[in-house]
Amino acid sequence: MQTNIDQNIKDIQNKIKLACEAINKSPDEITLIAVSKKKEHFMIESALENGIYNFGENYAQELQEKVSKIHSDNIIWHFIGPIQSNKVKIIARNADWVHTLYREKIIRKLNAECEEIQKKINACIQINISSEETKSGCSPHEVIEIAKLMKSMKNINLQGIMALPKLTENKSKRKEMMDSILKCSLDLQDFLPEARSISLGTTSDFEDAIMNGSTMVRIGESIFGKRV
Ligand SMILES: *Cc1c(COP(=O)(O)O)cnc(C)c1O
Repeated sequence: MQTNIDQNIKDIQNKIKLACEAINKSPDEITLIAVSKKKEHFMIESALENGIYNFGENYAQELQEKVSKIHSDNIIWHFIGPIQSNKVKIIARNADWVHTLYREKIIRKLNAECEEIQKKINACIQINISSEETKSGCSPHEVIEIAKLMKSMKNINLQGIMALPKLTENKSKRKEMMDSILKCSLDLQDFLPEARSISLGTTSDFEDAIMNGSTMVRIGESIFGKRV
């Protein structure tokens, strides 16, 4: 089946608009990140032609390869996968944003790599909101400590937080998670007012995420089709 990327983008943008209307927010305040991991270059180019400029990648080498082959002045690359120490250099050189920072060693290394190429990189602190053992991220009470470290790093621009909450049908559990993500963000903004970004929401939950304060949604499959 051919994936109809332009129609998919229109559908997502419309859903974002409706979710924003429900909370009296302008859709301009939401960044749509098209998650292009494991997808071919022509698909990214097709999304670019439809006015999408933010792309999310999970694997350092794949990011590097795409950056070297896809040329557009406006494209913004977001690294959203787990970060291995030996991949930090590649990420520093190819990403404009990193959403998955929380380990001190990686933060220091990323800063050093960015310093070497005189670049400032945008970053979010990843929070493991449901304390899942299989998920990465710091716990909510560590956010400010990590924010202090990141603020002291000259080549890292701390922009906000990122979370990947567990999908659950249980509405009160879901609400509890959303409230604690928002609290983390407000605590962070008390410390650093400009760090307002909340990177939250995927294909499965972006509308609910927007209604709970998300400013950046990361959407893969409903734009590019199922990943195999
Ligand atoms: C793959 C991925 C997404 C996109 O998920 P979809 O279900 O394809 O929308 C979003 N965020 C992260 C961190 C991911 O790894």
